[in-house]
Amino acid sequence: MTSRPLIIGVTGGIASGKSTVARAFARYGIPWVDADDIARDIVAPGEPALDEIRRRHGADILLEDGSLDRRALRDIIFADEAERRWLESVTHPRIRARLGERLASFRQGDVPYGLLVSPLLFESGQRELVDRCLVIDVPESLQIERTARRDGVDEAQARAIVAAQMPRDERLSRADDILTNDGNEQHLADRVAELDRQYRTPGGLPPTR
Ligand code: ADP
Repeated sequence: MTSRPLIIGVTGGIASGKSTVARAFARYGIPWVDADDIARDIVAPGEPALDEIRRRHGADILLEDGSLDRRALRDIIFADEAERRWLESVTHPRIRARLGERLASFRQGDVPYGLLVSPLLFESGQRELVDRCLVIDVPESLQIERTARRDGVDEAQARAIVAAQMPRDERLSRADDILTNDGNEQHLADRVAELDRQYRTPGGLPPTR
């Protein structure tokens, strides 16, 4: 039996609306943890993952204040697939463990349910941390438009980022619930209200995949 409260994994591609959706749920008092924040926390100075990265790449991978030079590391893993895999082997288990701790505190708390918001829910083994998955889905053209506008990149760059992520169909095939974010923010808020009602009465939810 699943322990209560439920934890819902919220995922989607770049600029699909994950943060906007999390903020909409927060208006109902729903707590969330953002996997991107945790990914930054686990490579902060003093963290074992940062020591491992420094041992592999040398002190040049650190900035003067001892923090990680993210741009240098990004350049390395962009150019070398094996280094990307090595980095993931160091970071992903630690991110998962830290997320697990945060979610355990939600489960013990007095909340109706909690959210794990993560762009890599399916790609980095985080699915096992949640009870069901809500996929935020947008048509690719709108996703590219929203990425370009928010991040100040041109359309070709936005297209390349989207192309490097999990294909839309594959993400959708793993969804338990879908929020189609192709309308205005009111449309999004209405769908969140509907999901909130459902997540508060988990007995009535359709089974997970
Ligand atoms: P993610 O967290 O998935 O990267 P965001 O929540 O940051 O995505 O949304 C990406 C951008 O699209 C933001 O600028 C956000 O304000 C905008 N956005 C999200 N949903 C909508 C919507 N329904 N209507 C208009 N703009 C939206």
